[in-house]
This record gives sequence, structure tokens and C-alpha cells, in this order.
Amino acid sequence: MRTLKAKIILPLIGLVVGVQLATGLFIAYRVKEAMHHENHRRALAVAYDLAHVSARSLISRDLAELRTYIRYTMTQEYVTQAMVVDEDCRIVMHSNLTKIGEQYAGTCPEQGQSLISAHYRNEKGENVVDALAPIEAAGVHLGTAILTYSHIGIENEIRLLSGKIALILGLGSAIAILFALLLAEYIVRPIRHLSRAAEALGTGHFNLKKMETDYSDEIGELAKSFYEMAGKLETEVCHDALTGLFTRNVFQIQLSEECARSQRHKSSLAVLMLDVDHFKKVNDTHGHGVGDEVLRHIAAILSRETRSSDCPARYGGEEFVVLLPDTRQSAALHVAEKIRSRIEADSFRLPDGRTIPLTVSIGVALFPEDTADHTWLVEFADQAMYEAKKLGRNNVFPATRLKRAQP
Ligand code: GH3
Ligand code: MG
Ligand code: MG
Repeated sequence: MRTLKAKIILPLIGLVVGVQLATGLFIAYRVKEAMHHENHRRALAVAYDLAHVSARSLISRDLAELRTYIRYTMTQEYVTQAMVVDEDCRIVMHSNLTKIGEQYAGTCPEQGQSLISAHYRNEKGENVVDALAPIEAAGVHLGTAILTYSHIGIENEIRLLSGKIALILGLGSAIAILFALLLAEYIVRPIRHLSRAAEALGTGHFNLKKMETDYSDEIGELAKSFYEMAGKLETEVCHDALTGLFTRNVFQIQLSEECARSQRHKSSLAVLMLDVDHFKKVNDTHGHGVGDEVLRHIAAILSRETRSSDCPARYGGEEFVVLLPDTRQSAALHVAEKIRSRIEADSFRLPDGRTIPLTVSIGVALFPEDTADHTWLVEFADQAMYEAKKLGRNNVFPATRLKRAQP
């Protein structure tokens, strides 16, 4: 996986699981050490008890008493064998009577010293240690009390603890995965949204869907800059620099979309083609600057006289088109007439107070009444506009009255 999501999730999970695992192992190791230590301390305490009570019996050679002490020692938890050895390390009394007289297999400590042997496995396979405590009376070393102490208890506890640590690790990892997924989604979702929006921009779709969430962080700033940039780009690409109306490209896109919609809904739409009458004369008489102002003036009238759902556009030069979605012929002719009369009535006023009378010729074509082919619709509106010119200009002419053969 080389997605951004994977790049966020995998290291995050790896890090959390790694840290948890290391912490868990460290805790388990330290607890095990502490428990061993405590076990050795307990084993020595029991050995010292046995050494203490054994001193008198060794002096008096009272083996029966010694056996009672050993039996008692054997009742202590985790003691698996107990014995008393003399100063030569020979077994004087043992929990297993058959061993009396044998030599202690381990090493007896120096006089007056206690000792914990290395861990070893007894015949039952348990992990054990020998705890050795010196037996002394009036400063005389009489022998050693030895008991074998099992670690089975702490091993069980460590197993239990490891289980709990594994459970916590599992839970922690699950939370880490969930958190990583949420974090990745938080970061990736707006980026995915913006990347789709950028793709849409690239294919000329400027009607971008805004993000559902308002981010107040760097992602929010990125989104804000992106939408501002898209807005500027839309103005640049979709709007004519002189008049601010839609460009011919946008008109063509809108036209094909609206024709498809009309077909689906079995409704009509109209296209008005406008041409400013004798515009060349305006330029020749007043200059191109004034000519530009006149074009802006006409564009403003077009914007005012059409609905927001209509699409007024500059088709080129002093020609304009208006797309009227969901409009029948009578309504289209009415709008065309309204525009024509408004332009005629609102003559352009020069700074010195003089006015320039303006008129337009308008052709009106209907989809699908005049043609069901949207590429021909503009052509028919254009032809109708030329008919309006022929009729003396300042006229509206419907394409239905054209004498033509449909291609
Ligand atoms: P008609 O009534 O037959 O349409 O005559 P007309 O003079 O309007 O038509 P013609 O095609 O002879 O002239 C159109 C003029 O529009 C010529 C061109 O210089 C001018 N024009 C085109 N685009 C612009 C523009 O952006 N600004 C200005 N000032 N003039 C433009
Ligand atoms: Mg023209
Ligand atoms: Mg003209």
C-alpha cells in the first residue's frame, strides 16, 4: 500500500505496538526479578527457622525432634524437601528418610554463611532453589539447614501477569489502530476531496462541492486557498474579461447539458442570438474605448433582464447569446422583445452628456421545436438574427419562420 493513509497508519501502529511491547516485556522482566528475590528471601527465612530449632536437636542428637521440625517445615508452602546436614555436609535428617546418611549433592557454604543455590529442575520438573542456613550454637558451627523451595507459585503468577499484559497490549493495539484509522481519515478525507475537486477543475467543472467539515487547521487553510484559487480560475476561464458575462465555452457546455435535461424532462429551451446594430460605427465615431464601454453596458442589461438560471454569454465581438432553460417559444420571444426594447430605451450616455442610441437584432431558436440537435440550435438562432437584420435591424426574428431545410 503506497497510499497516504497507509503511510500514516502503518508507522503509527508500528510505533505504538513496539512501545507497548517493549514496556510490557520490561514490566514482566522486572516483576519476575522482584518475585524471585522475594521468593529467595522467604526460602531463607524458612531455612533459618529450621536452623534455629535444629541446633538443640543436633547437640542432643535427638533425631525424633529433628524429624518433627522437618515435617513441620515441609508443611510450609512451596517447600519441596527439607534436610539438616552436619558440618561435613552429610545428611542427618531428611524429609525423605531414605536419604539420611547420604552426602548433600550441592555445596555447603562456609561456616556461618547462608546461601541460595542456582535454579535447577527437580525430579518433578519444577524450577527450584536450595536455601541453606547455618546451624550454630554458642558460636560453634553444627551443620546446615537446607530446604528446597519451588518457584511454581511465581511462575503461575508470572503466567497470569503475562496474560494480563498481553490483553492490555491487545486492547492498546486495537485502540491505536482505531486512533490511527480515525487520524488518517481526518487527514486524508479533505485531501481526497480537494484532489477530486482539482481533477474536476482540470476537466472544466467549476461548480465544486464544498467540504462538509469546516477545518480550522492547516487543512482548512489549504482548502480555503484552494477554493479561492478555484474561484479566481473560474472567473478567468468562465467569464469574459471585458463584459463579465459567461464565455462561449461555458455557454456550449451549458447548452449541451440543458438540451440533455430538456430531452429527459420533455421540456423546451430557447437560445437568443443578439448582434449590436451598426456597432462598427460606434467604434469609428467614438473610439474603441467607448465601444468597449458600450459592450459592457449591453452586457449589464442582459444580466439584469435575465433570470439567474439563464445563461447570458458573450459569443464573440459584439455578438451575445442567451440560453433560456425550460422556456417555450412565446416566453422566449417575450424575453427577446424585452431585451431589445430595453437596449433601445437605455441609450448609452457619454461623459459629456451626449448619448449613443443603441439597438440590437435578435434571433430566437427553440429546442426541440426548431431542431433536436443542439449544435444546429445556435446556427438557427444566428440565421434568424440575420433575418432580423435584413428586416431593417432592431428586430426579433424567430427561427420557426426561417425558410430552411433541416439537415
Ligand atoms: P451590423 O449591424 O451589420 O451588425 O453592423 P456592425 O457594424 O455591428 O457589424 P460589423 O461586423 O461590420 O462590425 C462589428 C464591429 O465590432 C467590428 C469590430 O471592430 C467591433 N468589435 C468586435 N469586438 C469588439 C470589442 O471587443 N471591442 C470593441 N470596441 N469593438 C469590437
Ligand atoms: Mg456581428
Ligand atoms: Mg453588429
